[in-house]
Amino acid sequence: MIARTHDVAAFTALMAVVLSQPLHSVTLATVVAAVLANQIGGIAPDIDQPTAPFWRNLPVGGIFGRLIARMMGGHRFISHSILGLALFGFAAHWLLAALHPIIPKVDIGLVWWSFMIGMVSHLIMDSFTKEGVPWLLPIPWKFGLPPVRRLRITTGKNIERFVVLPVLVGLAIWLFAQSYTEISTFTNQYIKR
Ligand SMILES: [Zn+2]
Repeated sequence: MIARTHDVAAFTALMAVVLSQPLHSVTLATVVAAVLANQIGGIAPDIDQPTAPFWRNLPVGGIFGRLIARMMGGHRFISHSILGLALFGFAAHWLLAALHPIIPKVDIGLVWWSFMIGMVSHLIMDSFTKEGVPWLLPIPWKFGLPPVRRLRITTGKNIERFVVLPVLVGLAIWLFAQSYTEISTFTNQYIKR
């Protein structure tokens, strides 16, 4: 899947999870940090791809990208598995705990969940593509949805751009509309400074 699909999918997944829970008060800093972490989580597994936008936007990204890609075992390997989710989860937790003294108003627990939701959404979305995802590494089988490879989509092709992406955007809008009253009450009353 292309990065834009992952961005939208991560946000839609975050909305779906947040709106299925009772809303409780959070700081504005937490909301901003959570959305940011969710977007990073949504593209994080593709750090194993030297051509990923993540690397292209860094000055010496090409070199680092190739190095990290090799460490991750190549594209769609460790960072695209449950093992990878656990490793990234530990790393994110450690990083957030280290940053917490600088950002005391941020609820790092929520930010961590938001990052993980982004990552999980990435693996689910990649499962819909022809290549599949090695969810159970070190067992090297690649899984896909639907299981018949021929029925899955090819990354970057028209189906992704003109069907998958609009459907995800539509879903996010629908989720927002469904909970509009709760969201507006929430933003009026509970977002603290
Ligand atoms: Zn991927």
